[in-house]
This record gives sequence, structure tokens and C-alpha cells, in this order.
Amino acid sequence: MSVLVVGSTALDSIKTPKAENPRLLGGSASHAAVAASFFAPVKLVGIVGDDFPAKYLRLYERHGVDLAGLQRAAGSTFHWAGEYEVNMNNRRTLKTELGVFETFQPELPASYRQTPFVLLANIAPALQHHVLDQMRRPRFVVADTMDLWLNIALADLLRLLKRVDALVLNDHEARQLTKEDNVIAAARKIHRLGPRFVIVKKGEHGSLLSGPQGLFLCPAYPLEKVVDPTGAGDSFVGGLVGYLAAARGNLEANLRRAMLYGSVTASFCCEGFGLSRTDKTRREEIEARVARLRAMAAL
Ligand code: AMP
Repeated sequence: MSVLVVGSTALDSIKTPKAENPRLLGGSASHAAVAASFFAPVKLVGIVGDDFPAKYLRLYERHGVDLAGLQRAAGSTFHWAGEYEVNMNNRRTLKTELGVFETFQPELPASYRQTPFVLLANIAPALQHHVLDQMRRPRFVVADTMDLWLNIALADLLRLLKRVDALVLNDHEARQLTKEDNVIAAARKIHRLGPRFVIVKKGEHGSLLSGPQGLFLCPAYPLEKVVDPTGAGDSFVGGLVGYLAAARGNLEANLRRAMLYGSVTASFCCEGFGLSRTDKTRREEIEARVARLRAMAAL
């Protein structure tokens, strides 16, 4: 089954202690769409400006991503710039230039409206609502978010939580949303706000799923060298939803396995700047790392 991904489609300028790379393909939807495409057909909803390089359109196409919902407008593509500290965990946003995103209204082509799996990747909650308003009874909806929306669009986000099956957020965001220091207590409170499933990401320390059948812990795939973690969270959720869309059988059991696939897909993202390593990844490499991750976590 296919996956609809809506989110930011961006040019990212990324600085790490070792290198600086301007105007890479980035954005929550770009990372999530390519990650999901390893498992299921993907339909992308986003907007790019007239400065968007053709080679990045070709990258989406190489991964079979349906671009019928990608709007092209006069003006500049959303541009984000960030800088990492030596530990590669702490990141500072240097620039957020909205460009064509400022007036973006996601309009879904008719061919998108019945997509069974919907991934609302990180973007303003009002736009996530607008996409859901156009969908015809999707089977499973996952929303991602970021601290910015907790700060400036909390009411929209709280309303969104009533409309989604799963919320994905990081541990800091979970604390900010619930005012709970303990991540389990935070997940419990988030369930009360709406979603049946809550997934809390803890960076290199893995992730946690809370659902009707209880908790599931997923390790991060251990990497000796991280080149650029930008988009790891988006790749995690993209890989997760892609795997889920392709799986048959019990939803929650599949979701647990999907966490492993998300985790491994994110590990490839961290090994190159922007989407460069993900672009070259093969499905067999993902399977091999999932097998290794299982072996490392088993007693
Ligand atoms: P992550 O590393 O998973 O947090 O995601 C990083 C990606 O989020 C980058 O590729 C950025 O282009 C994108 N991004 C940064 N700020 C925003 C924002 N305000 N809205 C949507 N996407 C953003």
C-alpha cells in the first residue's frame, strides 16, 4: 500500500566541525519520502521555488516518488541552515528562510486522496490539518512535529492530536508538551490528548513506542562515525511508515518491527551529508543492518 508524505521540501546549508555544505537537498518531506520509498510507493506533497535544482527532482524520481503533488512556484525554495557542535548532537539553527513556503497551501491531486497511509512530516500543524481535510478515510495517520510548533502553534497541534493514530516526537518535545520529566509519564499524557500510539525518539539512545499492548524499546543502530545527522528523525519516521504500509497482519506487531526499520534507515542518513548516503542505500543493506540490530539487542 502507498504512503502520502507532506512536509518541507528544502535546501539545507549544513556546517559540521569537519565540513560545510551549502544548498543540499533537505526538508522533512524529502528525507521521509526517500526513506519510505525503500518499502512502499510514495506520493509527495510539498512546494519548491524556481531555484530548485533539477538534479534533486531526479533524485526523488530515482526512488520512484510520485511528484504530482509537488508544487513549483516563482520565488525561492525554503532554505534552512544549521550548525553542529563537536559532539554532533547539539545543533543550532542559523537561518530559516521560508521563501515559497510562506504562502503554501497543500492541494492534493485527486489521485492522492485515497492513500491509505499518511505521514504528516514536520511542517506547520495548520498545513497538516489542511492535508487531512482532503483525505478520504485514511487507514493510518502518523504526525511528526518540532519544538517550534509547540511554541507558536500549540492550539493547532492539540487539535491535530485528536485526528492522528500516532504522534512521533523527541524526548525534549514530549517533556515540553506534557510538562512531565519522565518520558513514560509523558507518553501516558499524550495518549490522553488523542493518539493511540506515541513514539518518543531519543537520538543515539534509540526510541520508545507506547501502544495498547504496552511499551516497546528500539535501539539506535550504533555508528562509529556520524557525518551529518540532519534528517535522521524524518528518515526514522519515513522508514517506519513505509515498512508499515508494506506489512501484512497485526498492526501493533508490525509497528514494533517498523521501529527497527526506521532506526536502521535513519542510520544510513547520518552517514552522509543531506540525502547523499540514503540515496545510495540498497534494500539489502537495510535488511543486513536490521538483522545485526536484532542480534545486538537479543539476549
Ligand atoms: P531533523 O534533523 O529530523 O530534525 O530534520 C531536519 C530537516 O528539517 C531539515 O532538512 C530542514 O530543512 C527541516 N526543517 C528545519 N526547520 C523546519 C521548519 N520550521 N519547518 C519544516 N521543516 C524544517
